Order: sequence, then structure tokens, then C-alpha cells
Amino acid sequence: MRIAVLALQGAFIEHEQVLQRLGAETFQVRQLKDWQQPKDGLILPGGESTVQMRLLSKLGLLEPIRQAVASGLPVFGTCAGMILLSEDHLGTMDIRVRRNAYGRQLGSFFTTGSVEGIGNDVPMTFIRAPYIETILSPRCKAIATVDGHIVAARQGNQLATSFHPELGDQQSTPDMFAGSGQPTDDYRFHRYFLDMIHPS
Ligand code: GLN
Repeated sequence: MRIAVLALQGAFIEHEQVLQRLGAETFQVRQLKDWQQPKDGLILPGGESTVQMRLLSKLGLLEPIRQAVASGLPVFGTCAGMILLSEDHLGTMDIRVRRNAYGRQLGSFFTTGSVEGIGNDVPMTFIRAPYIETILSPRCKAIATVDGHIVAARQGNQLATSFHPELGDQQSTPDMFAGSGQPTDDYRFHRYFLDMIHPS
């Protein structure tokens, strides 16, 4: 299986490490010609959604990615990646998100929780995270909540989390987006994504 990982900015390296440990091949998407390679799925990593949107549009990647996802390419968006999938952005997922929803004080935190279809005690590292304020259609299903807020959802081939399932449970550091985070050793989320592509 070959997974495209958007690598313009943000926490993409740990996604690649986890996917590779699960036996998937990955490649980084930095420009249109990278994107044109064959692929079975796409990761939209965390980072800064405004920066990512600007770069996607400047590089001519926004529309090709939107079309591919709208036509069913499996996608996993984490944090900023979830924002990219929401209405007013790529708009492929029927979700309305609240950016930086946890405020400055509680900007970053770690917890564990249950995720439907995955299990209990799933590690959840939140970094200046959004949450899903509204699910806009019955096609989209909440699969996890924390403190009453939706933090993970699935809509067909699209999966989105507020948190960073690729990162371990180290407390978040300012350098997290510079590739200095530790990848998680809990691969259940990424296995779930790979199973969405090809059930094992
Ligand atoms: N706060 C960022 C945004 O609004 C998301 C943070 C993240 O991806 N960890 O895009």
C-alpha cells in the first residue's frame, strides 16, 4: 500500500514512521508532481491550517486534492488536517470545526479515550487543537468525544481527529512541528486507516 503524506509543513514525519512500521510505503507531497504518483490513501498532518491552505493553493494542489478526496481517495486528517477537510476549506467532510478550541491556557494536553471501532485507552495528544462543533450530515459519524466535544469522526473514506494519533504521550513541546516529536507506539489509529483502504 502506498500512502501520500502532505509534507508542506507540520507533523508529517511521525505519520510516515508509524505507517512504515505497519508495512505501508509512504511518499511526501511537496509539489504537484509528487501528488501525481499513484497512491492508495492520503495523510493531511497537523500543523497550521492557514499556512497549509495558503501553500496548497499557491502550489496548485488544493483542487486536485479536493477532487481526489471527493471521488473517494481514503484520507486521514489530523488536527490542522481535520480543519482542511471541514466546510469552508476542502469541504469534503460534513463538519464544522472550531479552531484553537481549547484556548491558550489549555492549548496542549494529553489524555486517553475510547474510539468507536478502535478501542479504549487510545492516546490523544492535543496541540492547539480544534474540535468538531457540528456534524452537518448523517453521512458523518462521531467516533470519539472528550469532555462532551467531538474529537474524531468518520465519513465514508474520510477519517479526522482533533488530536495527533501519530505522536507518543510525551507532553507537547514547542518543537513538535519540527519533527522532534516521538512517534507513538500505539499503532491502532493508523492500522484502522489502513484497514479503511484494504480490510485486512
Ligand atoms: N491550531 C492549528 C490550526 O488552527 C492546528 C494545530 C495542530 O494541527 N496541532 O491550524
